[in-house]
Amino acid sequence: MNITLLLPAGRLPLEIMAKALEVAEKYHLGVYLSTTQNLRLLNVPEEAVDAVKAELAPLGVQFKGPGKFPLPRVCVGAPHCNLGVIDTERLSAAITARFKDKAMTKPKFKIAVSGCPLACSGVLTTDIGVMATRAGFEMYAGGKGGPYPKVGRRILRKATEEEVLEVIEKLVNFHDAHTVKKQRLYKLLDHPDFPFPEAV
Ligand code: SF4
Repeated sequence: MNITLLLPAGRLPLEIMAKALEVAEKYHLGVYLSTTQNLRLLNVPEEAVDAVKAELAPLGVQFKGPGKFPLPRVCVGAPHCNLGVIDTERLSAAITARFKDKAMTKPKFKIAVSGCPLACSGVLTTDIGVMATRAGFEMYAGGKGGPYPKVGRRILRKATEEEVLEVIEKLVNFHDAHTVKKQRLYKLLDHPDFPFPEAV
């Protein structure tokens, strides 16, 4: 079995890294750094799952599970990248804080944040993309990767951070209201009530 440790903004605190190493050695586990910037422990014996989680949980580790609001995938941003316009870790935390009390999130939409228009975190090809520019934020909706990739619709330009948070909330609520079990956002772009036209 696998256990995925959620790592906000792709950051791996040293104490969690040390504990993950300790349990990996103890139970002979593999370690995979996932494309969603989380840390996955591989080959966990079924009978050891609870014990492994119990060793990590006291450090504040959250585990991947159904109904959790997705952590944004972020590029490293400012001040670690010279081109970064914003601190992407901070914006990721603001998004996560905004939805921390959401009881049940329907899959399968993802969120990405980039610190500049180079879009290293794939904001153009994910469900909800937030791109920082020198003129404010741009937002994209309904992008996707996979075998038939699709660039998202630009739905916002020159926006403030508060406007970005409000738009994410509107998109999440729309997705929630129009999704039975799970759905990528691109399937809702042509819904007659989709709240955002192309921003030119
Ligand atoms: S998107 Fe821009 S800020 Fe982010 S890592 Fe790429 S170049 Fe740097």
